[in-house]
Amino acid sequence: MTTFRSSTTGVLSRRFSMVLFVLLALFLARIAIADEPPTGWEGTIKPGHVRPHVEFLASRDLGGRAGADTVRAAAYLRQHFVECRLKPLFAENSYEQHIPGTESDSSEVDDSPRVKPISATKKPHIVGQNVGAWIEGSDPELKKELIVLGVHYDHLGTRNGAIFRGADDNATGTAMMLEIARQFSLSKQRPKRSVVFVGFDMEEQMLWGSRWFVANPPWPIENVKLFITADMIGRSLGDLPLPTVFVMGSEHAPQLKSTLDQIGSPRGLEVARLGVDLIGVRSDYGPFWGEKIPFLFLSTGEHSDYHTPRDVPEKIDFDKVAAISSLVLNVIQSAANAEQAPVWTDEVPPDVDEVRAVLRITQLLLEADGQRKFTDLQRLIVTQAQNKCQQLLVKGTFTANDRKWLIRTSQLLLLSVF
Ligand SMILES: [Zn+2]
Repeated sequence: MTTFRSSTTGVLSRRFSMVLFVLLALFLARIAIADEPPTGWEGTIKPGHVRPHVEFLASRDLGGRAGADTVRAAAYLRQHFVECRLKPLFAENSYEQHIPGTESDSSEVDDSPRVKPISATKKPHIVGQNVGAWIEGSDPELKKELIVLGVHYDHLGTRNGAIFRGADDNATGTAMMLEIARQFSLSKQRPKRSVVFVGFDMEEQMLWGSRWFVANPPWPIENVKLFITADMIGRSLGDLPLPTVFVMGSEHAPQLKSTLDQIGSPRGLEVARLGVDLIGVRSDYGPFWGEKIPFLFLSTGEHSDYHTPRDVPEKIDFDKVAAISSLVLNVIQSAANAEQAPVWTDEVPPDVDEVRAVLRITQLLLEADGQRKFTDLQRLIVTQAQNKCQQLLVKGTFTANDRKWLIRTSQLLLLSVF
């Protein structure tokens, strides 16, 4: 997961808690409106499949997977693809796509926008590598269409002697990708569309790895019909005991919504669909979003160990990682074999559930008023938002204009109240 630095760190840390709170509130809203609990099915991928990947990638030995240490993590990914007999993804039969930088780049990593494109005046050198493999589709026509599962495998490195091990961020997502790749390699039946597996480097540096990939894809980028990524899928939002994975992006491709609905969720896991505009760009879906490629982003949310040396394998819920991996495996199989690939839409259809969600947020906020000591202005903003949501629900229709109001209101709540 990445964070874009804004003008002040104060704003940034507030934004963290805002995102956290909105997600939590949306989740609670979903609980409140759910008709019945999901039945659940047995997942193909087991905790024992994903655990060794997380334990290796987040071991002290790998030093936090930044700078020179990403080379060892990259070698692990490549070795896995070789063992699975998957085809190399990049030019000249290579599993690796080198990412050039400039001499001014340092191997010390942080979230600042330090990584820059090659400049004419400075000698390019290699600052990172994406690692990828693929399975060619079985259908003579559809094999040109690609389903890409891409996750970042880098993290924050070692700072002042402390290793940022990044077990959740994002050894969990990487483990999921590696295991799904293995499942595809074991299957006797090849998918109709081609399926691509890629580990992105330098996500923690302004998504540089996935940006480089989208700018220099092995095939025309429009051949990518679906991009799926996951970042932090082994903990839970705010350390609360939630069985939830948040799935974002399906609002931009109606077919994905029905695919998710049809698939349901593995036993013990609950899927909460959200609009990605509520959180903005937080991981490698950003560059694909920019190209209007249908995408899904899965995450179990931020927690108190986010971007600290405390993000360690002992705290990972491997049942959850396995369940989410099984879910993604099913989504990819479905998309790879469907008659039609998902199609992008800019128009996000208004969904009245979102009004209920924001209403629920305002209720939670007003309930917390006693402890939080809102200013009069803050209380006014929340109360007005609540009233308008109630009016919309009474009206019973939710138009595109209403949704614009809702987004503005959500942002106003985020900026003024949290
Ligand atoms: Zn991160």
